[in-house]
Amino acid sequence: MESTPAVNQLGAPPTASPASAVIRVEDAHKYYELGETRVHALRGVSVEIRRGEFVAIMGASGSGKSTFMNILGCLDRLSSGRYFLEGIDVSEHAKKALALIRNEKIGFVFQGFNLLARTTALENTELPTLYTKIDKTERRKRSADALTMVGLAERAQHYPSQMSGGQQQRVAIARALVNRPSILLADEPTGNLDSRTSVEIMEIFQSLNDKGLTIVLVTHEHDIAQFAKRVLVFRDGKIRKDDPALSRPRASEALKTLPTLED
Ligand code: ADP
Ligand code: MG
Repeated sequence: MESTPAVNQLGAPPTASPASAVIRVEDAHKYYELGETRVHALRGVSVEIRRGEFVAIMGASGSGKSTFMNILGCLDRLSSGRYFLEGIDVSEHAKKALALIRNEKIGFVFQGFNLLARTTALENTELPTLYTKIDKTERRKRSADALTMVGLAERAQHYPSQMSGGQQQRVAIARALVNRPSILLADEPTGNLDSRTSVEIMEIFQSLNDKGLTIVLVTHEHDIAQFAKRVLVFRDGKIRKDDPALSRPRASEALKTLPTLED
């Protein structure tokens, strides 16, 4: 078995085999109760995602993608079925226990960057460490390292208003990485970005995945999904397709053919 320091830096426990399932979902159902009506958002989803995978989730609006991501991210609970995160059955966990697991194991990136406006890039990145036992010096170091990983070391003291959308999303990615999660979950992370900037975000995801990070990404754009290694298609709360990505271009290569925008 091959092991590099870069892999360990991205949170894989040293004892875990690279091929072990990080995520296992069995016959997952999710209902939302809305007054008298009941929405059946997930209708029997079963899937396994292994360490080091890079999965894109596609599907029409309302097909259950975000519901599924919120389950994976321990932001919500299943109505029935089971969810094993790194072998631990978290489907019976109460909200408080889920929150602890989430902070330790999950990095989440959203379409809106959700940064604090009056807070620097470094401080935004540092936020998730405030709920851990890590001491202040180490917190600062980890935050600076995370910003370096997304290519923003020089913007550490900038405020969100002083950064482009792409840079803000990179800060959000650094923040998602700072606690060295087992999985990075991203729900339409390029939804607010232009094409070139979107591919730049995919370049970062590919390089993090190269270092061993497991990534699950929701997108409705084929151009973005092609950068993943595997594509799941949701329809009506079920997985209808599960295929390896066909061409899998390198985002860094694709960028060479895209025009640069002026700053
Ligand atoms: P997608 O992300 O693929 O667009 P969602 O997971 O957001 O789909 O939604 C799946 C279904 O569940 C939709 O019919 C949606 O209206 C419904 N839904 C999602 N979130 C809620 C909620 N909090 N309360 C009630 N219904 C919801
Ligand atoms: Mg959604």
